[in-house]
Amino acid sequence: MQHIKNYINGVLTEPVSKKYLDNFCPSTGKVYSHIPDSDENDVELAYQAAKQAFPEWSVTPKEKRSQYLLKIASLIEANLDRLALAESIDNGKPVKLAKVVDIPRAAANFHFYGTGILHYASHAHAMENSAINYTLRQPVGVAGCISPWNLPLYLFTWKIAPALAAGCTVVAKPSEVTPMTAFLLSELCIEAGLPAGVLNIVHGLGAKVGNAIVSHKNIPLISFTGGTVTGKQIASIAAPMFKKLSLELGGKNPNVIFADCDYEKMLTTTINSSFSNQGQICLCGSRIFVEKKIYDKFKKDFVAKTKELVVGDPSHEKTKVGAIVSKPHFEKILSYIELAKTEGGTVLCGGKPHGMTGDFKDGYYIEPTVIEGLSYDCRTNQEEIFGPVVTITPFETEEEALMMANSTIYGLASIVWTQDLTKAHRVANHLHAGIVWINCWLLRDLRTPFGGVKASGVGREGGFEALDFFTEPKNVCIKL
Ligand code: NAD
Repeated sequence: MQHIKNYINGVLTEPVSKKYLDNFCPSTGKVYSHIPDSDENDVELAYQAAKQAFPEWSVTPKEKRSQYLLKIASLIEANLDRLALAESIDNGKPVKLAKVVDIPRAAANFHFYGTGILHYASHAHAMENSAINYTLRQPVGVAGCISPWNLPLYLFTWKIAPALAAGCTVVAKPSEVTPMTAFLLSELCIEAGLPAGVLNIVHGLGAKVGNAIVSHKNIPLISFTGGTVTGKQIASIAAPMFKKLSLELGGKNPNVIFADCDYEKMLTTTINSSFSNQGQICLCGSRIFVEKKIYDKFKKDFVAKTKELVVGDPSHEKTKVGAIVSKPHFEKILSYIELAKTEGGTVLCGGKPHGMTGDFKDGYYIEPTVIEGLSYDCRTNQEEIFGPVVTITPFETEEEALMMANSTIYGLASIVWTQDLTKAHRVANHLHAGIVWINCWLLRDLRTPFGGVKASGVGREGGFEALDFFTEPKNVCIKL
């Protein structure tokens, strides 16, 4: 069975403890590889390597840094099939989705920052005849990057690429639930000739490896994507140490559908925004609010289309909904469906595990689930479930829709469907969210700042904002 290794100082290494954890394949429920059970000793080795590499990497001309990043991007592209398959086995998502979305986006992240750094400028401000002020943007130092399991390589590289482009060296931790593509990335970095210590990847548990990165006294910056509870814990350690912090956290996104929408487009996209990646995308719309005039029609059509989704073997071309990422998460989602019933919800379709046979009989499959009849403020409608479960709720007025949409502690993303231009802009303006999609979903120019408001996070990733985050502004004023 394959032993995944850490990537420290340019070399694939065993954890200091020599201990390993089981890595499960969600589609079969079987252990298929082992992952280092690293601890603070491995983090220290990674930190020392990153510290040693920093003086040279931080002054390596940006053209040269760019070349490394572009080389890694092209290696990801060249290994598309292998990486997509690995991600599917690790995560349970359909291979096709990994091939079309996750892996191309990981390559795009390196492309984007490999070229973006070449156009990143600092500013000068002239005080007429008295002085010139200019701002240097200097890499912060050794960056700590921690990522979740739902889009494993996509989100891991979305942090690493800007950090490396900006001239930081990195100690990174992928999710222990989906470590495989980060391990394959370390092999590609070796192939690309990335200098030793520039990127270090330490595998293991959040409470050990993640915590050791966050509480390391010489890692001045933490970029974290994951759950809100973990984010809160990280902030409580990092904030008193005055670390630079970016937190991309949970969501409970509303999808507001007005009667005057382009119905067919809305229906097709709403199926995707509800159930893509088994509903395990932080940007999925899990609370669907539908104008009363079309509620009954929507309910009938949406449930019919949901029932058509093919659930099963992620490697099958026709599979739309694969396996849930892990057994604990599978059980958590099922417990929320039970909660919804006790809160008065009616399960219109799904609501139970999806039975499989043969090799897949112990996999973690849940039928796409649609629930109605819940109050907007019950727990099912307020807490993040992060699975193939959506609720549908009718509304009569725009004000009512906005009140329900904005009622959670979260504010990551929102979706609005209407053909009325003025209403679309007005509603977008009043939704409390870091991103609002009008008549579409998951479409985004990488130059836009990305992130949530309220309990969905602080700071912004994407665009030049990420390069700002991984650099420190230093203002210099010279008297003329
Ligand atoms: P999680 O918070 O459990 O884990 C995320 C990462 O943090 C993992 O690598 C984990 O090992 C590590 N970690 C856990 N405890 C830690 C600790 N005490 N100190 C340091 N690191 C620790 O989240 P998850 O279950 O992997 O991911 C799902 C969550 O991520 C959902 O809430 C989802 O909404 C969120 N998410 C948010 C975004 C976004 O952009 N806002 C994107 C994707 C996922």
